[in-house]
Amino acid sequence: MVISSNSMTKTITRRSFLVSSVVTAVSTAFAAQAPATAGAPDPKLMEDLVAAYRILAQQGVLDGFGHVSARHDRAANRFIMSRSLAPELVTASDLIEFDLDANPVDPRGRSLYSERFIHAEIYRARADVKAVVHNHAPSLIPFGVSTVPLRPMYHMAAFIGNGVPVFDIRKSFGMTDMLVSDSRKGRALAEALGNKTAVLMRGHGVAVVGSTIPIAVGRSIYLDLNARIEAQAIGLGGNITYLDPQEAQKMMDSGENRAYERPWELWKAKAMSK
Ligand SMILES: [Zn+2]
Repeated sequence: MVISSNSMTKTITRRSFLVSSVVTAVSTAFAAQAPATAGAPDPKLMEDLVAAYRILAQQGVLDGFGHVSARHDRAANRFIMSRSLAPELVTASDLIEFDLDANPVDPRGRSLYSERFIHAEIYRARADVKAVVHNHAPSLIPFGVSTVPLRPMYHMAAFIGNGVPVFDIRKSFGMTDMLVSDSRKGRALAEALGNKTAVLMRGHGVAVVGSTIPIAVGRSIYLDLNARIEAQAIGLGGNITYLDPQEAQKMMDSGENRAYERPWELWKAKAMSK
């Protein structure tokens, strides 16, 4: 009887230990997947983020792929981006809050962009960045795969006066599916970006950053235009006079494209009227 009682106690103890271990493991996993919300972001931020998706689709910078995000206005360790969806279809109800490990706060079963780590790791590395665009604009691809650097052709692209680095995923990760789909790859991309405004991704696309949503969107649009202009200028066959880094710096000092406020109002009105 005593033995039996002892063995029962042992069984119960072992069982409750197992149960508590499982509970701990489950709650740890849950905590890792579902960080606490930092609260609702400014409604204007959400409105501008929806507009950003639509504007970039209408401008041909994003197609069915690519994404934009914004850092949460009340929590530096949170950012907002859409669930996995074609950019032109994004509405406010599709926006999800993430932490800097790219874990969603409340995904409600919705699928996520596999390359959200691009955004998370850039926000972690760059306190000045408040918005990130990732796109696959065809005009940019040649400059990521050839030895010809992307350089500023005109005043609208002064923001690349300090150069555009190229991130080659193969150098650090060997043969991959080319996607920045985990934190390690995101970190390597953010390192390649350094303190610049954009980083080309070899055989893939680009990541563009800004201190506001309109700046990240404006830079993405004019980076695409600049790449097309550069290819055209090279095609002419003569010598090319690029913007001098000092000229570019003077333009940046006098206020980069007036923070894109004027075109932003136009782009947003057009994008939201459809
Ligand atoms: Zn991509």
